[in-house]
Amino acid sequence: MRLSRYFLPVLKETPSEASIVSHRLMLRAGMIRQASAGIYSWLPMGFKVLRNLENIVHEEQIRAGHNPMLMPTLQSADLWRESGRYEDYGEEMLRIKDRHGHDMLYGPTNEELITDIFRSTVQSYKQLPLTLYHIQWKFRDERRPRFGVMRGREFFMKDGYNFDIDKPSALHAYNRHMVSYLRTYERMGLKAIPMRADSGPIGGDDTHEFLVLADTGESEVFYDSAILDLNLGARAVDYDDWDQCAAINTEWTTPYARTDETHDETLYDQIPEERRMSSRGIEVGQIFYFGTNYSDAMNAKVVNAEGENVPVHMGSHGIGVSRLVGAIIEASHDDKGIIWPESVTPFKVGIVNLKQGDEQANGACEALYKELTALGLEPLYDDREERAGGKFATMDLIGLPWRITVGPRGLKNGVVELTSRKTGVSEELIPAEAVARLVEIYAAI
Ligand code: ATP
Ligand code: MG
Repeated sequence: MRLSRYFLPVLKETPSEASIVSHRLMLRAGMIRQASAGIYSWLPMGFKVLRNLENIVHEEQIRAGHNPMLMPTLQSADLWRESGRYEDYGEEMLRIKDRHGHDMLYGPTNEELITDIFRSTVQSYKQLPLTLYHIQWKFRDERRPRFGVMRGREFFMKDGYNFDIDKPSALHAYNRHMVSYLRTYERMGLKAIPMRADSGPIGGDDTHEFLVLADTGESEVFYDSAILDLNLGARAVDYDDWDQCAAINTEWTTPYARTDETHDETLYDQIPEERRMSSRGIEVGQIFYFGTNYSDAMNAKVVNAEGENVPVHMGSHGIGVSRLVGAIIEASHDDKGIIWPESVTPFKVGIVNLKQGDEQANGACEALYKELTALGLEPLYDDREERAGGKFATMDLIGLPWRITVGPRGLKNGVVELTSRKTGVSEELIPAEAVARLVEIYAAI
């Protein structure tokens, strides 16, 4: 993409309505625009990052054996009356009447709808285990929408539902989700800590929230710093291997890590003092096992191997995809702007032409642009007639992990400059070497 043709409405001023850094930077970098309180339009660069996150979530869910699908945003109130949540959900639910007077709602989540799909299509234990998920917009009429996309009213969420014949297989589904979530966040360049959580209105005993540590997080968290050293890395995971998934779950849930809702001072005091940490965190996901709560209420039964009709065991599992865009920025920025991890960056590399119009500089930039594009390393080429300082400031603000700077002075010696956004370190390389370096970096992601 050429910056001269890209819609990137960068703001010079710091917007006054934004109180946290990710919100400020998303507005300044032209990623989003508020449409109304807690509801945003995703401008091209914000949309690109959102899609990248969505793709990672899909890839990891499909790898875990889960089925992608798509349910509508609008639902009939009748199903929610069956589960009893139509009344319970309260003012966070946006209720709508259609022209025939039917009560509808904009879905805040999908347990009821998916249970209805399940009960009308699955009758036998032979069709289990089954996990269905989708990534769809949700609406919750939050009392205080704030922090930009972090606490919106309309937000983009992955929600998945497992259906299993009994508790042990449903707990395997829980562990499988735990592992696939750890992988998802790691791939996004994030350290998200699973913390024992409170089950709230969904009910159930097993639940973990995944929290990204950040001063601006809304949750208070307590943890053993040993958990920060855990990494899945390139481990081969067999999602059908119950023991392996359970072992990974144990590895991550053994060190103490809890939110204030489940915090236990006595257990916390047993952590060696130098490892006892408390800070703030952003909730970027949550997994639940809730047994037969919904299948009982909504009569979702299957025939088991003994020929009996039994309620199915369920869990639900969510990832806050749009919130993650903000959470990644909270975790990765400096005073100049965003620093995208390579796995989610909107463009792989920025090309800055220091002397637009200079025949040699233009030629070198065009050649780089063509080559990088052909290699699938989508560049953003700043081909505007602007001074170098302004171009650098824009690149730093939008946070592409790599920048190639092309100017007449370097070209005299046949070199361009490759700069890391994260470290600020620059290297002079001939253009072919700069390209080869980027190929290598992105091949490792
Ligand atoms: P919170 O406690 O932050 O209100 P929640 O526990 O009610 O969230 P879940 O039902 O667990 O949310 O939804 C799954 C994920 O969706 C959350 O972990 C979070 O990342 C995201 N999410 C929830 N509410 C919002 C919101 N208002 N704006 C953006 N993302 C949200
Ligand atoms: Mg939650």
